[in-house]
Amino acid sequence: MSKETRGIAILGSTGSIGTQALEVIREQSDVLHVEVLTAGRNADLLMKQALEFRPNAVVIAEESLHEKVFEALFDEGIKVYSGANALEQVVEMEGIQMVLTALVGAAGLKPTLNAIRAGKHIALANKETMVVAGELVTEEAEKYGVIIHPVDSEHSAIYQCLAGEFHNPIEKIVLTASGGPFRGCSTEQLAKVTKAQALKHPNWDMGSKITIDSASMMNKGLEVIEAKWLFDLRPNQIEIIVHPQSIIHSVVQFTDGSMKAQMGLPDMKLPIQYALTYPHRLKNDFTRFDFLDYPNLTFEKPDYSAFRNLQLAYDSLEKGGNCPAILNASNEVAVARFLNDEIRFEQLPDVVEHALKNVGYDKSTNLDALLASDKEARRFALEFK
Ligand code: NDP
Repeated sequence: MSKETRGIAILGSTGSIGTQALEVIREQSDVLHVEVLTAGRNADLLMKQALEFRPNAVVIAEESLHEKVFEALFDEGIKVYSGANALEQVVEMEGIQMVLTALVGAAGLKPTLNAIRAGKHIALANKETMVVAGELVTEEAEKYGVIIHPVDSEHSAIYQCLAGEFHNPIEKIVLTASGGPFRGCSTEQLAKVTKAQALKHPNWDMGSKITIDSASMMNKGLEVIEAKWLFDLRPNQIEIIVHPQSIIHSVVQFTDGSMKAQMGLPDMKLPIQYALTYPHRLKNDFTRFDFLDYPNLTFEKPDYSAFRNLQLAYDSLEKGGNCPAILNASNEVAVARFLNDEIRFEQLPDVVEHALKNVGYDKSTNLDALLASDKEARRFALEFK
């Protein structure tokens, strides 16, 4: 890479992806530096990160925490902003070359669109943005000459498999799924699972929302929709295979039948680093995979009847329009309600189904229409009993 370091804005620096991205930047400080950090409510961690990485600016989304952060960072010459509008605007700052969208949920949509319109390349972790508005986001990226580098391990795998393939036609892709903590459970067994069990993922240590999505398999459903937009595929070109060891991160099958897979230990730092330093592969000390530690890599069919979210996601993608936005918003509410002990685990798809049935279908995919559907879906998801 050139000697000039790449300026990174991390939206959601206090989360699981955000903190791992900072570990990567700390190790690759010859080529990367932090321009902006943003957090939701975790002011203490944001301040600590700012004092170490010396960004130009930080944003704390929760406005009541502005003064606390301002007092800690003003004398250090670090600009401090707060609120959702600041989060949207800060991505336009001059020194930023790439924005890592590592916040959770549809809250990532407007800042991502603004970053694209300001010509900033995107390292996309926030899959919900692509689920809600994949068509709009990809159109805008094309219009402004912006590259969207996937961070999700499966999509990074596909992206890595496509490197050097130019426009060779894809027959299909296969997204691997660990199956989560409830792999193999029947509908009856899923009716008895607890919050603590759902929060314990076998292979990945992640934020609570994606951990619940992984347990309910909605995460894989969201990834199918994300893949459609990132790689310009039809729904019937996207397959899911359960692979409990999470070593093969995903597969591309080309038009000649040849399959390319990307492999490695489950560690998000690798796809984060690839996105941030693209197209270069830089030396690091991440633990290396050894075949002899994994003599059995196994594969299973996903269970669409026990994990109904998978089918709901495919159906939403097929139907298009506002359906993926409804799916996403109602799922966000369902997960929050589950974490708040208001609904049981097996009701997660019921909430989504309720919203999909009740919010009117709208085929337009402009931002206002999508945001209106998002809002309505949240209302139906909240009223679900
Ligand atoms: P976390 O919950 O760990 O972190 C979320 C981050 O976003 C935190 O910094 C949080 O701030 C901030 N945040 C949350 N809500 C808002 C809001 N309304 N406004 C501003 N900031 C907000 O999530 P993860 O890191 O696990 O996931 C982030 C994204 O990456 C998700 O879309 C997820 O699906 C995706 N992803 C995550 C993976 C993982 O391994 N974790 C793997 C692949 C994809 P604070 O904590 O300060 O409140």
